Parts: sequence; structure tokens; C-alpha cells
Amino acid sequence: MGEGKPAREVAPESDRALSPGGLVESGDRCEGCGKPLTGRQKTGCSARCRAVAARRRRRGKVLAALDELERGLEKVRRLLGDPDTNSS
Ligand SMILES: [Zn+2]
Repeated sequence: MGEGKPAREVAPESDRALSPGGLVESGDRCEGCGKPLTGRQKTGCSARCRAVAARRRRRGKVLAALDELERGLEKVRRLLGDPDTNSS
């Protein structure tokens, strides 16, 4: 008796996944506590949160500046041929 070949199932066409692509909010959120802001509020829902946000921003700027500085230093190090990284 001939056995029927097991027909391979045709892979279903890959559906186009409708990904929302990440719902990007307007970014209006309290930088202090994370609550969504309303109307005029831009950085914080309260004076306290605004102060926190300001402090955080300043810190972020400083950190960014430090990061840039570090990159520059690394460049200089490479140019000078830092013995620490020069392995042979
Ligand atoms: Zn807040």
C-alpha cells in the first residue's frame, strides 16, 4: 500500500506585524515624580518637583560635559600612546 506523502504545510504568509512603534507621549511628565503633567506645567507638577527636575537637569548637563571631557581625554591618550593600553 502506498503511503501518502505527508504534505508539508505551507508556511502562512508572514503577516505584517502592526507594531505601534512605541507610543510616544508628548513628554509632558513631571520630572520629579513622573506624573503626567497638565496644561501649563512643563517640567514638574509642583514647585518641589520642579526643583528636583532642575537639579536633575543640571546634574545631567554636568555628567554630559564630563562624558565629553572623558572622550577627549581618551583621544589624547590614544594620540600619546598610553602605555596602559599599549599591549604587545
Ligand atoms: Zn511631580
